[in-house]
Amino acid sequence: MGQPRVLSIVRRLLQRSAVPHALLFTGIEGVGKRTTARAFAMALNCRAAENDRGDPAEQDFCGRCAECRRIAGDSHPDILQVNPQKGILRIDQVREVLATLALKPFSARRRVVIFADAHTLNPEAGNALLKVLEEPPDDSVLILTARQRSDLLPTIVSRCRHIRFSPLAADVLAALLSADHGLEPQQAAVVAQAAEGSYTRALALADAHWERQRDWVIGAIGLDRGAPPEEGCTTMALAYAADLARSKDLVEARLEMLKTWLRDLSVRPYAPRGVINQDRADALDAARARLDDRRLLALWDAVEQAHKNIAANGNLRLTLDVMALRMADLLAA
Ligand SMILES: [Zn+2]
Repeated sequence: MGQPRVLSIVRRLLQRSAVPHALLFTGIEGVGKRTTARAFAMALNCRAAENDRGDPAEQDFCGRCAECRRIAGDSHPDILQVNPQKGILRIDQVREVLATLALKPFSARRRVVIFADAHTLNPEAGNALLKVLEEPPDDSVLILTARQRSDLLPTIVSRCRHIRFSPLAADVLAALLSADHGLEPQQAAVVAQAAEGSYTRALALADAHWERQRDWVIGAIGLDRGAPPEEGCTTMALAYAADLARSKDLVEARLEMLKTWLRDLSVRPYAPRGVINQDRADALDAARARLDDRRLLALWDAVEQAHKNIAANGNLRLTLDVMALRMADLLAA
């Protein structure tokens, strides 16, 4: 799952049989937090003998015994996942878990309760959960997932063993996309770059006609030929910004596509094989013939500034207007 550091921490917890009663997994969406939680539940409950678990590199669980299969199929009565309802984890959901925790597990050695998106716990629910964390039952493990530690009550964080998940490396994402979804290596590379470390986002892009996205985002501002389109520069730039702003969910991925394209333009003359958008080599050459290093750097800077602003919750429309105007200016120069 591309999280070697996390895996080694989890392994150490299991080997020492020092499994904490509560774990907190933090990281952006789509980096394997829930997958790891499920694997952890399997490792705690697998019934296969240790030397009968297959590949020694992955022998934390067998994946074939009744316990493993029920966990993998989300049908194990002792492995519970609590998801936010309408964006909130509510007190009645926490109370239901409390009632379950008071009973013996059906068949699991260790019951596992996963609170997904624990940053959505409302204050009452958070306080109720805190009570369990203060006196956790021996036969259970609670796993909370969240984007970042600072989104949770400090009193909750302090009672959990915190494990941070990094964004996935682009080559790891690309390999996953090729292996699991049959993308050509070259396509996988472009999508992986745009997904910024999130497998969920990579999958969404892979399904969302990303080639059309990329070709539009590059072509509409004239980066596929190194000059702005015919119409008035300012009108064109503002229309481009408006279109970019329209699909808010995709903005960051699109900016990442722009950056990858500009990086490719810079690299192309010196290391043609290092280019990610290999399928658009002709357009890269055409644009590169009209853009020197200085202008490329300034274009990249315009996109990077916008990206940072948006990540910091800056005004989306204004930021994109400024970016597009700067780009049009640089392209027309
Ligand atoms: Zn098993």
